[in-house]
This record gives sequence, C-alpha cells and structure tokens, in this order.
Amino acid sequence: MKLAVFGSPIAHSRSPEIHQAFAEQTGREIQYERILASPEEFSERFAQFAAAEGVGANVTVPLKELALGFSKRLSPRAEQAQAVNTLIFRDGEWLGHNTDGDGLVADLFRFGQALRGARVLLIGAGGAARGVIGPMLDAEVAHLHIANRSGTKAENLVAEWQQRLAGQHHAQAKVFFTLLSAGDLASANGQWDIVINATSSSLTDERPAVTEATLANTPFCYDMGYGKQPTAFMQWAKANHCAVADGLGMLVEQAALSYFQWTGDIPDTQVVLDSLRSRL
Ligand code: NDP
Repeated sequence: MKLAVFGSPIAHSRSPEIHQAFAEQTGREIQYERILASPEEFSERFAQFAAAEGVGANVTVPLKELALGFSKRLSPRAEQAQAVNTLIFRDGEWLGHNTDGDGLVADLFRFGQALRGARVLLIGAGGAARGVIGPMLDAEVAHLHIANRSGTKAENLVAEWQQRLAGQHHAQAKVFFTLLSAGDLASANGQWDIVINATSSSLTDERPAVTEATLANTPFCYDMGYGKQPTAFMQWAKANHCAVADGLGMLVEQAALSYFQWTGDIPDTQVVLDSLRSRL
C-alpha cells in the first residue's frame, strides 16, 4: 500500500515512523514517504503520487486548505473544517477527510478531560484551530472562546461558525472571539476548564500573550505543539499551577484515524505514543 505525507517543510515529520509502527502492529506492508511540496508544487506532486498508485495521503502545513480542491468528495469533518489532512482513494475517487479534531478529543480523553459542559479557551485561529472546532462542539463543550493575536481571518472563522450554529435549533451561539491584545479575556478570568494553545508559538520558543490571571482556577492546559519538551507555554502553565500536556498524543491519535480510513485497522495508539515519547 503506497502512502505519503505532503507538506513544506516536511523533513521533521514523525508521520512515517508512526504509520510504519501501525503497519507492523497490524501486519501490513506499507510504503509511506515524505513528499516536500510547496503550494505551487502540490498539484503536480500529488498527481505523480496518484499515478504511481498512491492510495492514501496525509497533508500538513501549508497545504490543508489546498487539499480541499483535490477531493472529489468531502467527509463531514473536512466540510466543517474547510481543511483536509487525510486523502483517501476510494471507489475510484479521492475523498478528503480531517482527523485533527477527533485526534485532539481522543487525546484529551486520555487525560481524563471531559469536554461535555466544559468552558474552553482555544488560543490561535490557524489551520489547527479550524480543524478542532467542529469536534469540540460535537463533544458538547458549553462555551468555546477563540483568542488570536490578529483579527480578520480569526473573526471570519468565528463568524462562519456562529452562522452555522444559528441554523441549528439545539445550538446556542457558543463560539466567541477576542483579540489577545484586547484585554477582553479579563472578564472571564478564572472561568476556563481547559486552555488549549493552538498557535505555532512553540516553534519559536514563545508563548501566546495571555495573562497569568486567565489561568486562575484552570486545572488543565494543552499545547498542540510537540517536539521541544516542555514547550514555553507548558512551562508557563505549569508555573501557574495548571496540569499540562503536549500535542504528541494528538499527533498519534489523528494518525490512527487516518490509518483506519486507509486500511480498516484500528491500531494501539498508546504503545506507539510511549515509544515515540521515549525517543523525543
Ligand atoms: P498556522 O500557521 O495555520 O496558524 C498559526 C497560528 O498561531 C495563528 O493563529 C497565528 O496567529 C498564531 N501564532 C503564531 N505565532 C504566535 C505567537 N508567537 N503568539 C501568538 N500567536 C501566534 O498553523 P497551524 O494552525 O497549522 O498549526 C499551529 C500549531 O499546531 C503548530 O505548532 C503545529 O505543529 C501544531 N499542530 C499540531 C498537531 C498535532 O497533532 N499535535 C496537528 C496540527 C497542528 P496569527 O493569525 O495572528 O498569525
């Protein structure tokens, strides 16, 4: 089975080793390669991969929105996110899917974090945040507040969701937005059950500009970043008496959900996560 991950940069991707571990566990032969592709190169590289009998792909930064255009059909998750992280060749055509959000929800479950009724602060409004909003609302969070360092794109994302929710009779307007610099979060200090860093700040060893008071009484913080341990956000959250987790578990969980779509097999994610963590 020929699989690949497309992105730029791509050399750092842990996806090949994760999927290889799943394949060993489930007794399958796979070839899973990293394919470096800029947005301009993506279409041609993907066509070459498909012509060479590629049947499944992961898509990462900065190609997730472009991959929408390669999908003849979209799963409800990809439709919600308007972003694709998994391409599946099925019944002669490419299906676009998104496993990021369900991967996050599965990892939060691992840490005993019940989302139902929770007040969640999601910092960041890029592709990662976009992918997790639908699954978190489906998990019945009570209040989802998105805070971002800049406006426009983030405000549009929230407006998009508010419009969708307004059409659903059972949903309250549960998605809100604040600029990180606006100080509006102060009125919600001490009210967050979970604070999630969905920014790429960890990559530059920074953390988003949230005040310490924001975390008052917050028991659990999650950083979607992984790699350098602990991230700047994790260090800061820990210093403010919050239990913390990085995004490595989300990475493995979203990969397992992609693997299931390609093969129908459900791998044991904990074993793979433990092995990956021991090699960080
Ligand atoms: P994008 O480039 O699409 O978005 C980046 C976001 O981070 C934007 O909201 C941006 O704000 C914000 N940002 C960047 N630097 C800072 C900073 N110093 N302070 C505050 N905000 C900042 O990236 P993605 O959304 O695709 O990815 C975000 C992170 O999530 C990455 O670290 C990625 O590795 C991780 N990720 C992890 C996954 C996992 O499985 N664990 C899966 C997917 C992503 P602005 O809009 O103002 O520029």
